[in-house]
Amino acid sequence: SQPAVEEILDRLCATVPDYPKPGIVFKDLTPAFADAEGLRAIVDAIVAPFRGEFDLVAGIEARGFLLASAAAYATGTGVLTVRKAGKLPRETFTEEYALEYGTAALEVHTTDIPQGARVLVLDDVLATGGTTGAAVRLVDRCGGTVVGIGVVLELAALGGRDALAGQRVHSLQRLG
Ligand code: AMP
Repeated sequence: SQPAVEEILDRLCATVPDYPKPGIVFKDLTPAFADAEGLRAIVDAIVAPFRGEFDLVAGIEARGFLLASAAAYATGTGVLTVRKAGKLPRETFTEEYALEYGTAALEVHTTDIPQGARVLVLDDVLATGGTTGAAVRLVDRCGGTVVGIGVVLELAALGGRDALAGQRVHSLQRLG
């Protein structure tokens, strides 16, 4: 249930000030993923609102992969790797997104999503929404339908939920 997950996150999410650069407060979920009860609670809670509504789980490199693979296995669905630019061997679609300085890009293989597949997009942290927004556009371009976005932590002050207007966004914990 949600309170149990929030208690686990309060206990097991590490907060690292000024990483990877001054002014960023990095939320490190690796201790929660390393905890057997924590991993199960996170995965169960992140898929709960969408159960039965998706065929494929898209995980965003790299921490989203952990969530997506576990969520897909737990729900009997497939997994899609949304990768940083330049990693996939076959033809890809590419979507750029804004970083604090400059841009980055995510890619998927053009043929990896069965036409009409209902896709749940997962990542660890939602900040500005640039990353998940790019993943949503990639799924659309491949002919899939995004049914929702699941994240463990939402940094609410950074406005990601507004940037993803029109999408169902489910976070296990909202911070600041
Ligand atoms: P954004 O595109 O701004 O929503 O940033 C989300 C992506 O960057 C996710 O893939 C996160 O893993 C990572 N990220 C951004 N800000 C943080 C943060 N404060 N702590 C941990 N990860 C973050």
